[in-house]
Amino acid sequence: MTALERLEKRLAELQIIAKKSLGQNFLVSDGVINKILDAVADESPQKVLEIGPGCGALTDLLAEKYKDLTLIELDRHLAEFWRQQNLNVIEGDALRMDWSFGSSYLLVSNLPYQISSSLVIERSMDDSQLQAMVLMFQKEVAQRIRAMPQTEHYGMLSVIAQEFWQISTVCDAGSREFKPAPKVSSRVLKFLPRTSEIQNKAEYLAFVKACFQQRRRVLSTNLAALNQQYDKSKFKDWLEQNKKSDKVRAEELSVKEIANLYHFLKMK
Ligand code: SAM
Repeated sequence: MTALERLEKRLAELQIIAKKSLGQNFLVSDGVINKILDAVADESPQKVLEIGPGCGALTDLLAEKYKDLTLIELDRHLAEFWRQQNLNVIEGDALRMDWSFGSSYLLVSNLPYQISSSLVIERSMDDSQLQAMVLMFQKEVAQRIRAMPQTEHYGMLSVIAQEFWQISTVCDAGSREFKPAPKVSSRVLKFLPRTSEIQNKAEYLAFVKACFQQRRRVLSTNLAALNQQYDKSKFKDWLEQNKKSDKVRAEELSVKEIANLYHFLKMK
């Protein structure tokens, strides 16, 4: 059975229609589904978590292969359906639950677009990062995640994601590969944990947010908002040592340079 036939059968069985408010754009492309499953299989996971199983585009196939599969679903009817299939279901909002699963899980999802950036930031903050993540994003969000300095998409999301993960592109998905078709294109990314020297991730997130607070402003202006944990008087020395202009903006600094600046300014 094709993914489209599986979806039509299940929608009829469940007597539901897709809810826009929950980002229910169901995958109907066997090609994209196979690429996602291959990206998961490449990591040989023992334990798999899926956010938003929906009507099962990925779930049916994941359940065949991975015995330890946990589903996180906000839609009450869909959560109930998956419980009836004897699968392990956490019913609730993926952004508001306890994520102390530990590093042994691989997270896979065709993410509801409204939670995707927050989800990446939050999973980057976890002390014990997941084994890997294979996630579908709106293409523009995927571009922001992988953006390089001095490009229009580079910002806080790029810096945080690239500091804590090694990220690669799995595949693109056009709007016709979903039902109902969204207005935008999508892209699947794979995240593998990356060694970082940042100890206090929450503090670092606040620092990076401050750096990009007002994108068009020079960095010295944005840094003025930092509290006494930082010795802002050392910023000039850092600029000199790194041969940067005092008009430099955060968007001109690499991920490594921003981490380096944080360590340099932070009071012991
Ligand atoms: N995996 C299915 C597929 O690929 O066809 C469905 C993906 S659909 C884009 C997003 C799914 O996430 C829906 O099942 C939706 O009900 C669920 N969802 C939406 N918001 C959620 C949230 N905050 N936490 C958990 N699940 C959510």
